[in-house]
Amino acid sequence: MPNGLAGTTLRINLSTGEIRRLPTDEALYRRWHGGRGITAKIIYDEVPRDADPLGPENLFIVNAGIMSGCYIPAGSKVEFGAVSPLTNGPGDSNMGGHFGPALKFAGYDMIIFEGVSAKPVYLFVDNEVVELRDASGYWGMKSLDCEKRLKEDLGEDFEIVTIGPAGENGVLFSCITHDFGRQAGRTGQGAVMGSKRLKAITVRGNKSLHVKDLESLRKQVTEIILRTQKHPNMVPWQKYGTAFFIRWSNDNAVIPAYNFQTTFYEDIDKIDGDQLVEKCLITHKACFGCWMNCGKFTKAVIPGKPEVHLEGPEYETGSLCGANLGMKDINHVAYINWLLDNLGMDSMSGGGVIAFAMECFERGLINPSDLEGHTLKWGSVDDVEHFLEMVAHRRGIGDWFAGGTKRAAAKIGRGSEKFAMQVKGQEMSGYDGRWAPGMLLSYMTADIGAHHNRSWTITVDMAEGREKVEDRAKIVVYLQHIRPLFDTWCICRLFWGELDITPEEIVESLNHITGWGVDVDEVLRTSEMIWNLNRCHYIERNRQNGRAFDYPPARAWEDKIPSGPGKGKGLSLLQIDQMLDEYYAARGWDKNGNPTRELLEDLGLGPAASNLEELGFLGKPSPGGIPPVRGEKYKPKAF
Ligand code: SF4
Repeated sequence: MPNGLAGTTLRINLSTGEIRRLPTDEALYRRWHGGRGITAKIIYDEVPRDADPLGPENLFIVNAGIMSGCYIPAGSKVEFGAVSPLTNGPGDSNMGGHFGPALKFAGYDMIIFEGVSAKPVYLFVDNEVVELRDASGYWGMKSLDCEKRLKEDLGEDFEIVTIGPAGENGVLFSCITHDFGRQAGRTGQGAVMGSKRLKAITVRGNKSLHVKDLESLRKQVTEIILRTQKHPNMVPWQKYGTAFFIRWSNDNAVIPAYNFQTTFYEDIDKIDGDQLVEKCLITHKACFGCWMNCGKFTKAVIPGKPEVHLEGPEYETGSLCGANLGMKDINHVAYINWLLDNLGMDSMSGGGVIAFAMECFERGLINPSDLEGHTLKWGSVDDVEHFLEMVAHRRGIGDWFAGGTKRAAAKIGRGSEKFAMQVKGQEMSGYDGRWAPGMLLSYMTADIGAHHNRSWTITVDMAEGREKVEDRAKIVVYLQHIRPLFDTWCICRLFWGELDITPEEIVESLNHITGWGVDVDEVLRTSEMIWNLNRCHYIERNRQNGRAFDYPPARAWEDKIPSGPGKGKGLSLLQIDQMLDEYYAARGWDKNGNPTRELLEDLGLGPAASNLEELGFLGKPSPGGIPPVRGEKYKPKAF
């Protein structure tokens, strides 16, 4: 059995029902490292550039990475990849929980789905038994309800991922749900699953994985366990999870409030981490192999509504469905989190879409006659509940918002594009970048659309000057290389990044598992290769210069922050262009944001250069050649 891998890849044609078992391609893993690296490579190679992301030619890939399920902390992740219907570019999203390790314990590293099933199905995996089963009885069920029913029908020991009605109905920001609250939320992977009429994947496995040097791995992991259990960050993480940052973000004027109109929320006391722990917490929850237990299993209690149970809200949902919607009760934030989870929508994009619709309502761009007689006011949980049903089932103008804020703004017009808070079609995460320029640049340039996790620069912005736009590029590029590696290896960044474990230690673990003998510079270079392949893929699919896709909505430069500690702060379009120019130079791209042949060949991506050249979008070589330092020499302490 190959080190760190289960040994078998499943290739399933949903149109014909054919299930093929293939030996896992070890050379592919050695070059692309698994997770988002391999999904990026396969969809680049196999999905035609004009394929409809919701059509039969798109692939849907499940990859459990090289390190998940192995004898390491927080080896809990699984990655999903497909061309994104939300961004029309390469898409990926991951989740923790137990599904990824379970897939490998059943004997499978990856599942590649192709085609479209004629009827709803789910994939049943029980070690050697792999079957497509009729899912007619589950189709139409909400995500959390469906997971519960499948566990009742198959057994508690099955690990299950499901989609909800939103995914079935092609809502473009649909998520995949697991473990009653773990979500692969970004880039609409749930919509791709729904388009293939794949309702769920259920897995049970009890095999072992082989690692190259178990004794050295055991020694290293024991040392990490003993060291990290005393780390001061462990206490707040275990108590609050990421909800700890709600108050911090408000204090530091980066929280989005009222659809990113301002960065200070006057009712933060009603929705912060203390409120979550005091009013909603039932118990703490952790993923496979983790004792940081950042997951908070909670209840939402609202008079006149059923008590509901969920995991969350963590920081992103708490900010985007809390301050950003003007909510004044943590139970209301938790309830909206539950609605989105159960309907099967990404709670980050979901919060952004609701907030955008609320601002449209406030400005009179939509009105009760568009909303089946309802209103959509800041702070109203009842309004949100009705609106989300319209979106999930694409009723009336719910159909516009089902495409996300960018598409909805294109329908509504009348200046609404200015406050549709997205880049490349994907809604922004829960940080406002007007007084954190590096963060804004991160959103602008993230390869899957506005997402914080590719590069989170806020503490660096704070340390180096929050009005400074110079030199942001090298920080962003470095972080864009190191942070996505966690999604490549399928381990949790929160554990490995927040407890001061060094990149060298992580690479040492990787070597103990695989025997590859790589170093930090080599893995950063692999990450750079993945980043550039995704950039080429995005340009090839959308057939415009890369720069055309890298701008935030005009609110980012036209509006100064109107209240709170950040009052009066903001950026100009000139500064945004300056950051982009520096970023392209730092990456070795041309002024149009297109990679050059020289760079792509240096990264082993010569065929991608030829593809760009054929389409007329190959970057022009810069007089200075490829920059010798592409972010890798800038190594802040934080990941
Ligand atoms: Fe899961 Fe949180 Fe642990 Fe990461 S830190 S593995 S998200 S419990």
